[in-house]
Amino acid sequence: MRIRRTDGSDVLVIGGGIIGLVTAWRAAQRGLAVALADPEPGGGAARVAAGMLAAVTELHYGEETLLGLNLASAERFAAFTAELEEASGRDIGFRACGTLAVALDADDRAHLRELHELQRRSGLESEWLTGRECRRLEPMLAPGVRGGLRVDGDHQVDPRRLAAALLTACERAGVLFHRRRADRLSVVADRAAGAVLDDGTEVAAGQVVLAAGSLSGRLAGVPAHVLPPVRPVKGQVLRLTVPPAYAPFLSRTVRAVVRGSHIYLVPRENGELVVGATTEEMGWDTTVTAGGVYELLRDAHELVPGITELPLTETRAGLRPASPDNAPLLGRTALPGLHLATGHGRNGVLLTPVTGDAMASLLADGELPEAARPFSPGRFSPAPAPQEQPA
Ligand SMILES: Cc1cc2nc3c(=O)[nH]c(=O)nc-3n(C[C@H](O)[C@H](O)[C@H](O)COP(=O)(O)OP(=O)(O)OC[C@H]3O[C@@H](n4cnc5c(N)ncnc54)[C@H](O)[C@@H]3O)c2cc1C
Repeated sequence: MRIRRTDGSDVLVIGGGIIGLVTAWRAAQRGLAVALADPEPGGGAARVAAGMLAAVTELHYGEETLLGLNLASAERFAAFTAELEEASGRDIGFRACGTLAVALDADDRAHLRELHELQRRSGLESEWLTGRECRRLEPMLAPGVRGGLRVDGDHQVDPRRLAAALLTACERAGVLFHRRRADRLSVVADRAAGAVLDDGTEVAAGQVVLAAGSLSGRLAGVPAHVLPPVRPVKGQVLRLTVPPAYAPFLSRTVRAVVRGSHIYLVPRENGELVVGATTEEMGWDTTVTAGGVYELLRDAHELVPGITELPLTETRAGLRPASPDNAPLLGRTALPGLHLATGHGRNGVLLTPVTGDAMASLLADGELPEAARPFSPGRFSPAPAPQEQPA
């Protein structure tokens, strides 16, 4: 039985970053009455993120299960883009440009060779190139580039446009926005029943989705054993502008590991060049530091010396909502009526389509699809609540 409360919505989503928004949009498309609480919907980490859809180049040892979900989402991206752009009337800047991961010294080269081997064993498409072949593809690369991996399937999207389009699509689909912070989860008869907002309003709902990004583990009223183990991982990012006279500066995403730090340059069609990102365990601090900007510029300059000619137009820091195993928490919790959609870490933009589909299935049909089941919050906490039957 679907729980519909006459004084509220079928579903309340707490948090209107890209994950909360896609959940709300997809659930509303399934005919559910959806409310969403966030003081600033469409903000969050997507304001900072680069938007790489890097299922193949972001492959890490021990993350093969996550790879399956990343690939499932990457495969959906083109169709998802078409549907969202149609629903919102907005362009989200999806660009099927591919990625080139390069090595600057012998250590980087050995590391990339290992990644290539892991990709091959995982059945992924990537091609080893010599330094000269890399520079033929991207002439702005430093002469010292020693080799690289060409991954034609890792694309990009503009996360700010993605968030704006999701917001419009939600509004058009009838999602009710409460532009307030949720202060506390309401629990009635051992079941999540909505939330109390920071102006005292009580929003009742049959099901609640906690999608508050790096703050998901801090909502009052959520029992301690259900709180998700999500922490903020700070990332500083620069935005530069490629003047028309310099275009095309880069034709695809270029990335490398320089002295152990990951650096990437993501060129957008509108001339924006995103350079990222630091990885820092600093709690909820979002200060842009001189050291962070210096390291990014130093490493990016080593990779593509010409970037020092470009105007630096923006510096920003954001928080990745990270989980202990770098994979998201999707699905029901041990508190009946409370679901999680959080912990997407460095892959939240990539995972937006698959998360929306998975959460809408759970909310409308009572079941997570097969691909999302390994990501149940139960892997970090006691057994989830027994299944509820949908209407
Ligand atoms: C520097 C950086 C680079 C990145 N690059 C990439 C990339 O290239 N590719 C990729 O796939 N991903 C990338 N990511 C990751 C991606 O941006 C995130 O995983 C994703 O945006 C997380 O979305 P979210 O909706 O879960 O959380 P958030 O964006 O954090 O949104 C959470 C929302 O919840 C709201 N909220 C919090 N508490 C409450 C409350 N109590 N009541 C109501 N609302 C509340 C906040 O206002 C916020 O709007 C990057 C992230 C960073 C920081």
